[in-house]
Formats: sequence, C-alpha cells, structure tokens
Amino acid sequence: AAKRAGRNQLCLFDKRLAEAAHDSLLLDGALRQALARQEFSLVYQPILLAEAGALCKVEALIRWHSSSLGWVTPDRFIPVAEESGLIVPLGRWVLQEACRQLAQWRQDYPAASGLRMSVNVAAWQLADADFVADVQAALSANGLLPEALELELTERTLIAEDPTIERNLTVLRQQGVKVALDDFGTGFSSLSYLSRIPLDTLKMDRSFIAELETSRRCRDLALHIIAMGRSLGLQLVAEGVETAGQAETLTSFGCHLLQGYHLSRPLPPAELAERYFR
Ligand code: C2E
Ligand code: MG
Ligand code: MG
Ligand code: MG
Repeated sequence: AAKRAGRNQLCLFDKRLAEAAHDSLLLDGALRQALARQEFSLVYQPILLAEAGALCKVEALIRWHSSSLGWVTPDRFIPVAEESGLIVPLGRWVLQEACRQLAQWRQDYPAASGLRMSVNVAAWQLADADFVADVQAALSANGLLPEALELELTERTLIAEDPTIERNLTVLRQQGVKVALDDFGTGFSSLSYLSRIPLDTLKMDRSFIAELETSRRCRDLALHIIAMGRSLGLQLVAEGVETAGQAETLTSFGCHLLQGYHLSRPLPPAELAERYFR
C-alpha cells in the first residue's frame, strides 16, 4: 500500500510539473508578442511619509493584459520572462515608461514637482552590460536628474554576487540614482548585503507587517529592523500596510515611509494624479 501511495504521489508530482511546464510554455509564447502588441501597462502605488502623510514616491508595477490569456499577474509572468531573457527588453520598457510618466506628472502638476519614481529591476537587467547606459538614457530623454529614480532589487538579485551587478549599482549610485533592497527579511542572508551593497532604502517585507499586531515576534523584529536600518542611515519603508493599527505601530517605531492598501492600492496614472496632484 505504501508503495502504491508513493507511486500515486509521484504521479501527482509529475502532473504538477507537467502543468507548470505547460503554463510557462504558454506564457512564454504569449509574452514574446506582448511587447510589440503593447499589452503591458504600468500602475503606480503611492509611498507616503509616515508622519506627515505626504506623497514622497510611487512604485511602478507592471500589468499585462494578454490578448489570448486575459489578465496575468506579475508573480506569474515575471519569472517566465526572467527565464527567457525577455525581462531585459521588458525591463527597459518599464524604465522608459516610468520615467516618461514621472516627467509628465512633474510638468503637468506643481504638486508633483518633488515626486520620485521607484522601479523594480531583475538580476538579468542589472547584469546586462548596457544597463547603466539604459538608465542614463531613460533619465536624460525625460530631463530627469538621477536622484528622481530609485531601483528596487531583491536579495535574489544579489545572491549571485555577480561583479557586473555590483559595478553597475556602484556606478549608478555614484551618479545619484537611489537603490532600495526590496522584500527585506525574506532571504537567507539579508544582513550580509547591508555591508556589501551600497543602499539608500530598506523595504521591509509585508510578511512582517501582516502579523505586526498578532505576533509579538514580528513586532519585535519590525522594531529592531527599523532601529538597525535607521542607525545605518537608511530610509525605511514598510510595504503591505493594510490597517490603521499597522500604520500607527510602524510610525511609532520610527519607520519613515508607508506603502500598502491601507494608504492606497496601485493606481492608473490618471487616477493617481486626480487623487494626489489636483
Ligand atoms: P514587489 O516589488 O514587492 O511589489 C509589491 C507587491 O505587493 C505588488 O504586487 C503590490 O500590488 C502588492 N501590494 C501592495 N500593497 C499591498 C498590501 O497592502 N497588501 C498586499 N497583500 N499586497 C500589496 P504586484 O503588483 O502583483 O507585483 C508583484 C511582484 O512582481 C513585485 O513585488 C515585483 O517583485 C514584481 N514586479 C512587479 N512589477 C515589476 C516590474 O516592472 N519589473 C520587475 N522586474 N518586477 C516587477
Ligand atoms: Mg518592489
Ligand atoms: Mg516588495
Ligand atoms: Mg514582492
């Protein structure tokens, strides 16, 4: 019986693998045409000053409406785009579009004059020899200073210890571009990056934030991450803030900036302008 159960499990496993492979093949095919068909768009999620509540920056988040598959979430298609290398041209488009949008907001609304833009970048992009030039081009084409842009990377990006990645980051940061470590606290060795990689911002992962009020441990962890980050001179952002209680606690812990559904969902550009700049 055990043997049979084992075999059944194996079948189930094979089936899941096959489904996953099929899914990624399907996505891969659709993704290849998606850029040319202009099926991508960006939404922007506000990141607000904890104390004052003012809009400080926005994070660009990609959306894909596929003509054949309908809406597909980034958690599903970004890994597939990374696998195929398509993330490089796709990421370049995100960078250009986010910079174009920021410049447009700044031009159209005085209230947006100090706004900054945060963009997620994948390891493949950062490891690309042309990345520094791509960033410079996106900035200068839109008349933006490097300080207007922040790049968000995750530990997954840094784990490779790729010298090109570290060099690109160092060069860009010397020019004034900001660098944020995203999903902080979920990786294996978060602390080692703090000494190795030049950073401006720490974004605390939402898994801590979600249990802030129910778990003493998460509360203590959040408190100490914020204190540590502050003492290193980093800007602290809490992501995934969903309740007023979480916002209050994080603010009392000294977290500089808040992001999450409690403050605002990611918004299309017109809606964001309507709510914050008019
Ligand atoms: P991320 O960079 O950590 O972005 C935060 C994610 O949390 C976003 O999901 C956002 O919509 C969601 N979120 C924001 N506030 C809340 C909240 O209060 N509660 C909950 N439950 N979720 C919240 P989204 O847009 O689905 O993006 C998922 C991930 O996909 C991103 O995580 C990022 O890693 C990746 N991604 C998105 N856009 C891009 C992009 O343009 N380039 C790259 N390379 N990756 C991207
Ligand atoms: Mg992010
Ligand atoms: Mg994050
Ligand atoms: Mg994430």
